Amino acid sequence: MIPVNEPLLDGNEKKYLLECIETGWISSEGPFVKEFEQKFAARVGRKHAIAVTNGTAALDAAVEALGIGPGDEVIMPTFTIISCITQIIRSGATPVLVDSDPDTWNMDVTQIEAKITPRTKAIMVVHIYGLPVDMDPVLDIVERHGLKLIEDAAEMIGQTYRSRRTLRDEGGAIPTSLILHPSTFLHPCGSFGDISTFSFYPNKHITTGEGGMIVTDDDDLAESCRSLRNLCFQPQKRFVHERLGWNLRMTNLQAALGLAQLERLDVFIARKRAMGARYTELLKGVDGLELMVDEAPYAANIYWVFGVVLNDHVPFDAAEAMKRLGVAGIGTRPFFWPMHEQPVLQKRGLFSGETYLVAERMARRGFYIPSGLALESKHIEQVATEVVKLMVFGA
Ligand SMILES: *Cc1c(COP(=O)(O)O)cnc(C)c1O
Repeated sequence: MIPVNEPLLDGNEKKYLLECIETGWISSEGPFVKEFEQKFAARVGRKHAIAVTNGTAALDAAVEALGIGPGDEVIMPTFTIISCITQIIRSGATPVLVDSDPDTWNMDVTQIEAKITPRTKAIMVVHIYGLPVDMDPVLDIVERHGLKLIEDAAEMIGQTYRSRRTLRDEGGAIPTSLILHPSTFLHPCGSFGDISTFSFYPNKHITTGEGGMIVTDDDDLAESCRSLRNLCFQPQKRFVHERLGWNLRMTNLQAALGLAQLERLDVFIARKRAMGARYTELLKGVDGLELMVDEAPYAANIYWVFGVVLNDHVPFDAAEAMKRLGVAGIGTRPFFWPMHEQPVLQKRGLFSGETYLVAERMARRGFYIPSGLALESKHIEQVATEVVKLMVFGA
């Protein structure tokens, strides 16, 4: 069986983990946590980074830190993971959905403005599968309407967005290599939000086993996120609480892994791009198969996963295709199931009567094939061969 994901741990992971064990620093108090935070912040060009237990927790803290609550509306894509919406709902706020762009599979930014009301407090953008959301129009809207921006960059570690806007320099850490031209700049994904978040689950571009990161340039938001991460203990009266937080602390063991992985990020991105290019070469032109687009005007795909969508004339759906590929020894995963079709949310009376045709189609027709960092070229060939067989012979 070729698994859908296998991470690559062949850098300094072992060395740094051994250091944790030999020094006895295993908890969140250990020195790797701060070092990982500092180096990650520098890489994304942000002032603050706060390491947490996972990407979902990072989003929870982001929503809470921005004070989102009853009466507020948050505009977000329907085509995303449940992690994006849970804290919005628990906080008593209302999620407001938009459909996806059929080419990039990202949030269709032209649909945002029509959803703004006097109650809109924030926009949550989620970069999907390998290409960023088209950020310039979103940033214009955010400015014009005075909204907060949450950016879920879990799938976009190491990706950049080509923008006509100048780089923010508060972090003071933007490499000059990102300045393309006096009128075009490469912004790292994760540099856009009032708060931006990342995940280090093993299928992301870098992993800590489980883990996540919150980044921001705002000192108060950073302080608030640090406090929320640590049960809102107070510096003076430790066990007296003014606010409810969580225990979201990342361990030194996880940060040791993260640091070693971060050293390899550029290698990993190159590897993912090569994988995407090879799959594209092998599957391009196969009848009935829509592939991920290699490039948008503002970014080249970093292939977090390699996704395919079955054309409407293909006589089976994604679930059936995945079953047949499984029999052939190929691991797959379905695409996200849209938020407006989630039973748990419908039971709460949300999104009744709403339809988002692009997301609905992707959920039923789309899936992704093995695309982990440890995937070897002979596996890519084997996967592609089985996908071609599936499309030609139906098995
Ligand atoms: C993986 C992922 C998350 C959740 O991260 P976890 O670390 O698994 O909690 C959130 N958003 C997106 C877009 C993701 O891909």
